[in-house]
Amino acid sequence: MTYLLLAPRSVGVIDLGSQADIPVVLDAMRVLGRAPSEVCWVAPTHLHFDHVLGIDAFARRLGVPILLGRVAHEATTGRRRLRFPSRLHLLRAIPTWPMQGLPFPPWADWRDGFGFGFPGAPNRFRARQLAPPEHGAPLPGLPGWSLLDGPGHADDAVLFHHPGSGCLVAGDTVRNFYGGEWNPLLCDRHDYARTQALIRSLPVETLLPAHGPVINGPEPVARLRTLPAWMP
Ligand SMILES: [Zn+2]
Repeated sequence: MTYLLLAPRSVGVIDLGSQADIPVVLDAMRVLGRAPSEVCWVAPTHLHFDHVLGIDAFARRLGVPILLGRVAHEATTGRRRLRFPSRLHLLRAIPTWPMQGLPFPPWADWRDGFGFGFPGAPNRFRARQLAPPEHGAPLPGLPGWSLLDGPGHADDAVLFHHPGSGCLVAGDTVRNFYGGEWNPLLCDRHDYARTQALIRSLPVETLLPAHGPVINGPEPVARLRTLPAWMP
């Protein structure tokens, strides 16, 4: 799932899981009446392949920079190794693949081998990177939005928050396969508990998960389920 953050004169693009998504995003912008020149950055919510495989190609095609959180930025410069959910967690995730229609990345995504978004991947972006914002800092080019660190599902997971409207782009920290649930796939459950507490403390009216439809209605965070261990 790709999200476009729209400001009066700028657009932020979040998550591109495949190069095949690039023309779809450009079509969507055309429909919205927004020019490619308005894109101020493209950002993955975290460095997992299904969020990042189209990022570098999109940035280079439009000549825009890549925005990463501090931890993801450290990983791309080799100063930090990212943990992934354990094998047991990944086994649990297998049934969610057919649930999403068995998506499979096209050949263009594999030209870089396992260069992006896999355990041990170097994540060497060729496009220019912006300086990573600190936790809570405003997002460059998008007034009213801020970037928050949200580790737990991934060490480098970030959240995009707009306190004025209560929008929270949550990446894989929140899912919606069953009406809205906390993600059971974690690399660190203590970090995740802190991120859950952070999200509960924020003004949130609309939750935008990376997988599944938008979660809104009354108190979307309070309604998130914690799944029992047998559910994928
Ligand atoms: Zn993920």
